[in-house]
Amino acid sequence: MKPFLPKLVYFEPKALEYPLGKELFEKFQSMGIEIHETTSHNQIRNLPGETDFEKYRIAKSTLVVGVRKTLKFETSKPSAEYAIPLATGCMGHCHYCYLQTTLGSKPYIRVYVNLEEIFEQVEKYIKEREPEITRFEAACTSDIVGIDYLTYSLKKTIEFIGQTEFGRLRFVTKFPNVDHLLDAKHNQKTTFRFSINSRYVIKNFEPGTGSFEERIEAAKKVALAGYPLGFIVAPIYMHENWEQGYLELFKRLRESLGELSNTNISFELIQHRFTKPAKKTILKNYPNTKLEMDEEKRKYKWGRYGIGKYVYPTEEAKTIEETISGYIKEYFPNGEIQYFT
Ligand code: SF4
Repeated sequence: MKPFLPKLVYFEPKALEYPLGKELFEKFQSMGIEIHETTSHNQIRNLPGETDFEKYRIAKSTLVVGVRKTLKFETSKPSAEYAIPLATGCMGHCHYCYLQTTLGSKPYIRVYVNLEEIFEQVEKYIKEREPEITRFEAACTSDIVGIDYLTYSLKKTIEFIGQTEFGRLRFVTKFPNVDHLLDAKHNQKTTFRFSINSRYVIKNFEPGTGSFEERIEAAKKVALAGYPLGFIVAPIYMHENWEQGYLELFKRLRESLGELSNTNISFELIQHRFTKPAKKTILKNYPNTKLEMDEEKRKYKWGRYGIGKYVYPTEEAKTIEETISGYIKEYFPNGEIQYFT
């Protein structure tokens, strides 16, 4: 796939006070991309587009360069102690993506240039927990890999964490633009994960992202560059013949990875879920989606802030967990299943 190129770029004036901000300004100017000024990266008022539908699509190809003011990195993800905010938003069009609800009316992509301040905060968090390991997740609010070939901020973060003793970095991607990350001095402190799914899910619900083959080619490259490798199977979705669909996924994965399949690869398993507000937004942004979100067929799970999620009923969830774990044990005997949720 062609790497992402924004159609429109906005800059917060303050971003130009940072080396990365200046560098990006010059880069986009020399690329001939339309540049505007915005007083705050949280408020872009004059985005073009007639309808909400059009505005949403334009926003997803708009990049905003700003300064991250909130330096609190809490996360509720099971995979890390803290988030590390390098970017917010994504150019992908996955129908089920939770960013549609969390970002609401601001689906444009924001990147933050005050890396020095962000790293200072990271260092504090690591110090607080020493000698425990502290894990940072860089993909909580975006798919950072797809944007990084423009900013290199992920590469800098990989190298920053690489020289710490107790810090670890993780992120997940559906994009294959990894070449510039292959020579980063990661010291094996970064786990590079790829999101994978059955053909049905990738075809119907993940437009605007890398194909399965592209993701696996990229996975091979990063594994050969010495990064610990992982896969997130998410969302696990019970489409027609899903057992066959996921069986084929693991067979293909094993074949494509060859010898690498016998290494210690991590797997994270996440079943499909949705909230009521998410359903509404998904149907607005992707009115023709085949994504099935029937509350009657799901189990309600109480959530924070009073917004519960609809997950698969207990028995179905158990079947999913057993089936997918079974495939992993069969095709990746040295693999490590970290959790199912
Ligand atoms: S690639 Fe990830 S972050 Fe981007 S739209 Fe898809 S699910 Fe959302």
